[in-house]
Amino acid sequence: MNLLRKIVLFLLAGLVLSLSACGREAPKVPEGTIPVTVSFGAMEKLTKAIGGDAVSITVMVPDGTEPHDFEPRAEDMVKLSHSRLFVYNGMGMEHWAEKAIRGAGSPDLITVDASAHVPPLLLTDEEEREEHGAYDPHTWLGLREAKEEARAIRDGLIAASPKDRDLFMKNYESFAESLDRLQAEYQDRLEKAPRHELVTGHAAFGYLARDFGLTQESVEDAFATGEPPAKKLIELIEFCRAHHVKTIFTEETMDPALARTLATEAGAKAETLSTMEESSDESYLQVMEENLTKLDRAMNE
Ligand SMILES: [Zn+2]
Repeated sequence: MNLLRKIVLFLLAGLVLSLSACGREAPKVPEGTIPVTVSFGAMEKLTKAIGGDAVSITVMVPDGTEPHDFEPRAEDMVKLSHSRLFVYNGMGMEHWAEKAIRGAGSPDLITVDASAHVPPLLLTDEEEREEHGAYDPHTWLGLREAKEEARAIRDGLIAASPKDRDLFMKNYESFAESLDRLQAEYQDRLEKAPRHELVTGHAAFGYLARDFGLTQESVEDAFATGEPPAKKLIELIEFCRAHHVKTIFTEETMDPALARTLATEAGAKAETLSTMEESSDESYLQVMEENLTKLDRAMNE
C-alpha cells in the first residue's frame, strides 16, 4: 500500500469513528431550541429561570456525583461539542471546566463562568480551605450572588441567540425581582430568630450564613480530617448540645445514616436542606422557599 492510500484510509477511519460518535452521543434537542450544557443542578435551575422554553439543557455531572469530585469523560466532551452554550459556576467549583471546554474543541461554543462578577467570600476554616481553596465556591446559594449569576447567564444566552433577547431580558427582570423578595423574606424570618447556629452536611451555606447572621458548622468537616474523627465529632456534638441545636441538616448527596446518628447523639433531629448540587425538577425559587421553611423552623424551635 502506498503512503497516500494509507493516509486516506486513516482519515476515513477517523471520519467514520467521529460520525458514529456524533450519531450515538448527540443529545436530542427539540426543534428550534438552543442546546445548552450546564455543569450541575444549580446551573440547570438558573439557566432554566432565564432561558425558559427556548433552551434544551443537558446536565454534565451525573446525579450521585459531587460536582467537586467529577472528571469529564470523552463522551461528555462530545456532548458539549454539540452545544451552543456551556454554563458553569466557576469560583473553583468545577476544577475540570477548562479541560472540558478544550476537549469539546468547538470554536463556536459560548462559555459562561457564572460567578465571574460575584464578590468572593473568603474561607477562614483551615479544612475548608484545603477542600475548596481560598474562596467559598457555593455562590449560587446566596440570593444576591444567584442574581449576579443569572445576569451572566442572561448575557450568555443573548450572545447565543440574539433574536430571543427580549424574552431573556424579561425573564431575568422577573427572576431578579423574586430573588429580592426572597432576600427580604429570609431576612425577616431568620434575623429575629432565637437561634443562629446552622449545622449542615457540608459547608455549602456560607453566603447565606453571612447574609443572615448564622454560624455554620458542618458535619463533613468533622470527618474531613481523616482517620479517627472522634475528637472533631465529639466537639460538634458538644457544640449542638451547648447551643441547643434541634436540627442537623443533611443533603441529597450525603449518607443520611451519618446525620441521623449524629442527630441522635446530639439530641436533635435530621432534616434535609438542598444545595442543588444534584439535578431535580424543582425551580431555583421553589428550592430556596423550601430551604427557608426548614431553616425558619430550625432557628425558631
Ligand atoms: Zn459543595
